Amino acid sequence: MWALVKTGRGEGLVELQQVPEPRPGPGEVLIEVQAASVCGSDVHIYHDRHPYWPPVVLGHEFAGVVAEVGPGVEDYQPGDRVVSETSTGACGKCFLCRTGNRQICPDKRAPGIGRNGAFARYLVMPAELLHRIPEGLSFEEAAATEPTAVAVHAVAERAAVRPGERVVVLGPGPLGLLCLQVARACGAAWVAVVGTARSAQRRLPAAKNLGGIPIELGREDPVARVAELTGGHGADVVVETSGSPAAVALAPHLARRLGRVCELGVTGRSEVSFPWDVALFKGLDVQFSFSSRHSSWVLALRLLAEGRVRTGPLLDVRVTLGRWREAFEAVESGQAIKALLYPQEV
Ligand SMILES: [Zn+2]
Ligand SMILES: [Zn+2]
Repeated sequence: MWALVKTGRGEGLVELQQVPEPRPGPGEVLIEVQAASVCGSDVHIYHDRHPYWPPVVLGHEFAGVVAEVGPGVEDYQPGDRVVSETSTGACGKCFLCRTGNRQICPDKRAPGIGRNGAFARYLVMPAELLHRIPEGLSFEEAAATEPTAVAVHAVAERAAVRPGERVVVLGPGPLGLLCLQVARACGAAWVAVVGTARSAQRRLPAAKNLGGIPIELGREDPVARVAELTGGHGADVVVETSGSPAAVALAPHLARRLGRVCELGVTGRSEVSFPWDVALFKGLDVQFSFSSRHSSWVLALRLLAEGRVRTGPLLDVRVTLGRWREAFEAVESGQAIKALLYPQEV
């Protein structure tokens, strides 16, 4: 089968290759991928700015159909429509795994990063990580369940946004637009979304269409605008999704005293500067949110099934696997919010 492979360590080194079709071992299922979305971290791996273990088939956001089950799998059958959590390789024995946090186990090797992923016709996953796709949700919409679960983990579980709270999201990329929707589903009074001029064409208007208040940097001063929106208090919760050092430095200025700042953007740098004393004198709760738990997937799929969170409006490039470069470039340039690959066709 054709697969999109990161062949070694370094810049680029991504190409379509013929690889053998995988076989499901005990407890595993073979999944025929129907749609897979390109994540910012795939682009980071392309540029050698994210951990990975080459050679590896890329792709960790996907939806598919069970094609075959391995020995001992009883809960799934060929034809089932599924998505999958990504915590493959987690040991199951350490403190983190045993307390329900296998997403952060040191042994975890996610598909598309540490074992072969979804930018290919087939991939193999442990049955215990699968979830059924709710009826009425297309493969395309379900492919973005993983980033939805990441947004749920950050906004609903870590920052725990409560009804009536006022929320600012930094970065109108796919994660930011999902965090916006999750915050609204949590009952936020309103959600403002801050983006650069580059996002003015596609991403900030999408934020508005999804019920957010767009704030364009350069046109408006976000600190003054948030002060105006909150009677001078600042936001209850600020969610940083962009990983831009300027946004990291801005976040504490937007939060109210005793507010929360939730960081989930990858900066790709060893250090960034942070207005320490602003955060200190406001008594902020600064938290980091990484990946997603089992519970985040359960909640994400309920929100998607109910239409409280929609991934469809984010998918604006849909191409076959052979045109992967277009998808990667659209994501990197910010022209697209999210790009989708169809790996059955090349
Ligand atoms: Zn992702
Ligand atoms: Zn573990």
